[in-house]
Amino acid sequence: VPEIISLGEALVEIMRQEVGVGFDRPDFFVGPFPSGAPAIFADCAARLGAKVGFIGTVGNDDFGKVIFDRLEKDGVDLRYCYIDPHLTTGVAFVAYFKDGSRKFIYHIGNAASGVIEEERIKEDYFEGVSFLHINGSALSMNEVWRKAIYRAVSLARERGVKISLDPNLRPEILGVDKVRDICRPVVEAASFVFPSGEEAMMLTGKTTPDEACRFLVESGVEYVVLKRGDKGSTVYMKGRSFEVPAFKVDEVDPTGAGDCFDAAFLVGMLRGFDLEKCARFANAVGALAVTRKGPMEGAPFFEDAMSFMERS
Ligand code: ADP
Repeated sequence: VPEIISLGEALVEIMRQEVGVGFDRPDFFVGPFPSGAPAIFADCAARLGAKVGFIGTVGNDDFGKVIFDRLEKDGVDLRYCYIDPHLTTGVAFVAYFKDGSRKFIYHIGNAASGVIEEERIKEDYFEGVSFLHINGSALSMNEVWRKAIYRAVSLARERGVKISLDPNLRPEILGVDKVRDICRPVVEAASFVFPSGEEAMMLTGKTTPDEACRFLVESGVEYVVLKRGDKGSTVYMKGRSFEVPAFKVDEVDPTGAGDCFDAAFLVGMLRGFDLEKCARFANAVGALAVTRKGPMEGAPFFEDAMSFMERS
């Protein structure tokens, strides 16, 4: 029985080898690196020692094998992660620029990553599970994924599973109003929300991250954990909030830090850490995640994360 279930898109990332090279001319790429926010989350939570189930779809090709093999090696339960015989695996091309910005070309919505069947959201799979983690990227994918996620949330809640949401919003595709609408049913059910400042404001319509996070707590979310990149994080709950500073590291690739952070916070809860320690642990894991090239390559194992946290 998994302790945590994550569902959504799995894909490979193929990135420009050199920072500062866009997609407008021929140049070198590196990859495939396994990716997709829900898959990064699942892999990191498994590396940190949790029993994790991942529900998603890869294609019947070598890219799919890269993802499947990686998750399997790290011990993720893949009984409902299917290999679609007809579609290719989702791909994201990423270019990094010197100012820290990124550019993406996605082939995911019409690839295997866009596929999910309702039959794969099984009632009994949620029995005895502690957390169901939802990522806004999967909610943004298409109507089929949305329906599957709403179904998962309702089946999970009926069984006492706590819902966790990383809004990971992409308003550039759907627009802010639509994004807010599709997140609402999950926000209303959520015990944990892990937003960036921008996302917290977008979700609530408030004008500062602080106001937005307080509003989410007042609306019934038990813990709102604001992610602030190299500034660390802030935990909000009823009647209290506190900041936890970041760890100092050399950032090589920021992709995946947020998903690893979410995973670490929930693993901390499973291990019975107090809230301060959950946030510190999550900051440590988020920091380690940015030190390696590739979305999940920096995801640490439990012992390494603990010794980094205690050493720093
Ligand atoms: P996202 O990946 O969702 O954009 P962030 O960039 O805020 O999220 O990263 C998530 C967490 O990872 C941060 O709250 C912080 O704890 C850690 N982190 C991210 N970048 C750095 C960094 N450059 N130095 C130290 N910690 C970092």
